[in-house]
Amino acid sequence: MQKYILAIDQGTTSTRAILFDKDSNMIAVAQKELENYYPQPGWVEQNANDIWASTVGVMIEAVAKAGIREEQIAAIGITNQRETSVVWDKQSGQPISFAIVWQSRQSDAYCVQLKQEGKEAWIREKTGLLLDPYFSASKLRFLLDHVEGAQQRAENGELLFGTMDSWLLWKLTKGKCHMTDVSNASRTMLMNLHTLDYDDELLKLWNIPRCMLPEIRDTSEVYGMCSGLFDVDIPIASLVGDQQAALFGQTCFAAGNVKNTYGTGCFLLMNTKEHIIHSQNGLLTSVGWRIGKKTDYVLEGSVFVAGAAIQWLRDGLQILKKSSESEERALAVDDSAGVYVVPSFTGLGAPYWKPKVKGAMFGLTRGTKQEHIIRATLEALAYQTNDVLNAMKEDSGLEIKRLQVDGGASLNNYLLQFQSDITQASVIRSTISETTALGAAYLAGLAVGYWRDQEEICSHFQASHEFVPNMEASQREELLTGWKRAIHAVMQF
Ligand code: ADP
Repeated sequence: MQKYILAIDQGTTSTRAILFDKDSNMIAVAQKELENYYPQPGWVEQNANDIWASTVGVMIEAVAKAGIREEQIAAIGITNQRETSVVWDKQSGQPISFAIVWQSRQSDAYCVQLKQEGKEAWIREKTGLLLDPYFSASKLRFLLDHVEGAQQRAENGELLFGTMDSWLLWKLTKGKCHMTDVSNASRTMLMNLHTLDYDDELLKLWNIPRCMLPEIRDTSEVYGMCSGLFDVDIPIASLVGDQQAALFGQTCFAAGNVKNTYGTGCFLLMNTKEHIIHSQNGLLTSVGWRIGKKTDYVLEGSVFVAGAAIQWLRDGLQILKKSSESEERALAVDDSAGVYVVPSFTGLGAPYWKPKVKGAMFGLTRGTKQEHIIRATLEALAYQTNDVLNAMKEDSGLEIKRLQVDGGASLNNYLLQFQSDITQASVIRSTISETTALGAAYLAGLAVGYWRDQEEICSHFQASHEFVPNMEASQREELLTGWKRAIHAVMQF
């Protein structure tokens, strides 16, 4: 009997379920959109019950679409939007309020205060994270402060906290398992990177009762059984944050392996194996995964505006009809004619960390055409990625010879060739676009012996396209010098 792995990809805008076979082929996909609520500027919330309902819906739909029997599912893997936090009542299973989404800034005041108290370096050393409302700790503090009686009830052991992996595992196991994995726990700001356990000093700082937190487990192991949803019980065998799942799905198993997801923003992760590297360049340190008590750590950097800059060309400037048109328009001119676009609309992230900077365009002449601006905007995605890659190289001392890529804008061949030229590394796009779900599937499959080991998984990896560097060193230097001047200029403005 042919068996499959069912991966759940619980994202910010949708929940998906994908069935994979042993050769990593997608057999069926089901997807449900999710509503985000914006009660105040900067606040983003979701209904955890909607997330649960969407998950059940897509799981059943994917199995039905594939036309397989439920016994044919060898295991379930869960990957999730990271940091998004919910608190629920242990008895009723009902959330005590909305879930606070990772993007939400509503708990910023706590972070500002702790920064003023000089706590950032200390927190950074323990957790690898910057003191920012992005991470779960301040969100949980906000929930406990703003829902009446919540702190007391949490201390009484009546309430449970979870990121979406924990919430779904708890629901799917009918309340039997209240667990998370190290990759998700490393984004809460409550876990110590060295001990891989919640840190008593951090719990005290945030005044979080330990009894409400999920037990921290491996990324690939059988936590419990999904029961009641299908006629048979099915093991749930991976929990993993979405970016780490993509790194795993891209088979970045060796030290120095990097993946970049070119979506709305860019998310870059480098595997640093057993080394916890504290960045001097504003990168974050997190856990990639822990399998069989072996932990791989990662360095992470992000670019706030990447594909969003292409959307701006389309919707703001209206010089593109579709994002995908950017490739042929860019190729309609010989070069960007000295134009640089710095799309730092929401500030500059790693390695600059200038939150108040605005975007800019440089090098305009009477001869500048739309195509030059389009080309320069695509190039900006590559320059920004290159800046993060340089920070990773500097922090880790590792060379980057190849970059594995995914995400919507990775379909753009011009962008990937330019990335390869500027970074002087091979850029590899895989045939499977769903690397996040695939990573969760691999991790679940490994736990139940569906795949033997990482080596076997690597043998299934298929590159659809490999871009190799093809640019004169002098030209590259000249272009990079221009980019550095542009960045310098926006920071001065
Ligand atoms: P997310 O998961 O962040 O919503 P996706 O991975 O779906 O993003 O990618 C969508 C982004 O990629 C959009 O910002 C879009 O403008 C950009 N994009 C999609 N196709 C292309 C393309 N061919 N060239 C350049 N950018 C593209």
